[in-house]
Amino acid sequence: MSLDMSLDMLIGVFMGVLFALISLVLRPFMVNPPYSLSVLVLPMSQQNHQAKIVTRFAPSPTGFLHIGGARTALFSYYFARRHGGNFLLRIEDTDKARSSEDATKAILDGMDWLGLKHDGEVVYQSKNAHKHRAAAEDLIKTGHAYLCYLTPEEQAAERELSRTEGRAFRSKWRDGGDPPKHTPFVVRFKVPDGETVVDDLVQGRVTWTNNDFDDLILLRADASPVYMLAVVVDDHNMGITHVVRGDDHLVNAGRQKLIYQALGWDVPAFAHVPVIFGPDGKKLSKRHGALGIDAYADMGYLPAGLRNYLARLGWSHADMEVFGDDEITALFELSDINKAPARLDVDKMAFINGKHIKKTDVATLLSYGRKFFEAKNGGPLNEAQMARLVAALPHIASRANTLIELADKAYFVTQERPISITGKAKKPLKPETESRLRDLLFVLKEVKQEQWTDGNILARLNQYIAAQDIGFGKIGAPLRACLTGGAASPDLSLVLELLGRDEALGRIEDCLNTCFKD
Ligand code: GLU
Repeated sequence: MSLDMSLDMLIGVFMGVLFALISLVLRPFMVNPPYSLSVLVLPMSQQNHQAKIVTRFAPSPTGFLHIGGARTALFSYYFARRHGGNFLLRIEDTDKARSSEDATKAILDGMDWLGLKHDGEVVYQSKNAHKHRAAAEDLIKTGHAYLCYLTPEEQAAERELSRTEGRAFRSKWRDGGDPPKHTPFVVRFKVPDGETVVDDLVQGRVTWTNNDFDDLILLRADASPVYMLAVVVDDHNMGITHVVRGDDHLVNAGRQKLIYQALGWDVPAFAHVPVIFGPDGKKLSKRHGALGIDAYADMGYLPAGLRNYLARLGWSHADMEVFGDDEITALFELSDINKAPARLDVDKMAFINGKHIKKTDVATLLSYGRKFFEAKNGGPLNEAQMARLVAALPHIASRANTLIELADKAYFVTQERPISITGKAKKPLKPETESRLRDLLFVLKEVKQEQWTDGNILARLNQYIAAQDIGFGKIGAPLRACLTGGAASPDLSLVLELLGRDEALGRIEDCLNTCFKD
């Protein structure tokens, strides 16, 4: 063994012992042990020794909960659920001029409808201003922040100068000096020299030169905290381990990391999710469907369908498209989020929603669909209508992509007698069909209430057709006109069963009484 090698080994052993000792001494003071990236790839069983994952959604209440925000929140939510962690909600209402209670309510309602359940109480950022100020004071004490007395004119001049010199904003007060009397001041962060690196879980490694970061304001002249400070202090106090948010905040991660470090706090992991584009690859606008979650509820989406579509937008697992919550929770990883912006595809959204309508139980369809069924009916459904609807839903749910379509498809059962048969729907009711319909009514009356099933009715219809020696077409279209007013509907024998004996026979009688008069 060479002298060099044994020296290397000695140094190695010494460093190992030193590191173990330091860890032992510091352990009791470490509330949140530094988060290791490896936790993201370890199965849950091996992560028990790691800090519990805590994520958050931190919307500013300046408008409704739009689908972009909802998708980011879903990513945060599923990631926390996947790892047995917590998903918290913080309303960032520090900008009083732009925040409103209505917007807060719209966000809470939107999350509620979408089934995005957060853990714990809602945190309101405005209530934490004293904690933000205390952190700013700490930063002043430790020399990481300073009082800046620049007048608005001086500030504008420095801004212009820094721009022409191609560097970030620096104040002449960063190195102290005699403060002028009676001059208002702001508290600025003293950006250190060097580089800042963030290993973003979606974007990969991002490196900034600190000289590109302005000495940003932490407290305004009225001592109110700015977003950049508030978000760091709140995320730290809430124990957030993973900040999942839109990639418009990516550069803020660099600035915020500097503040975390200056405060001596652990830096959370960051995952900056690409924005959603319209189908044309342009920024999402209302025209494309950048609407509030409530608008999708009004368009007849099921929360489960929207959750599936939004989670799948920019995240994928093999080529699976239809996911239940349990499946997403079991499979979701931030590392599977695509770095490229996703494009909103409204047809796909409807298709996925249709898959969920198909597998949703009748009670849930009735609860989310009630307003659409009632709108179609022009008011609440009576008991008989409701009974027909309940019987019909399992047979028609596979035919609708939205609850509006479902209400349209269900209208033939909920309509009340006499149903309207007009325009094109009347066409099959030619004079020569009247006697056939009368015969058929007689034949169907022979089927007793307890035998009124799809199979028995079909057998009876077939007997009639065979006896008359006619094709089904001769009787099918007029009968459907009488029963449904011409609406697209399942097989006639099933329609007859779903309507129920009295209603079905009554509709045929109504038609015979009125449709052949002129
Ligand atoms: N309140 C910020 C926003 O709505 C989000 C801040 C964050 O997630 O760090 O854009």
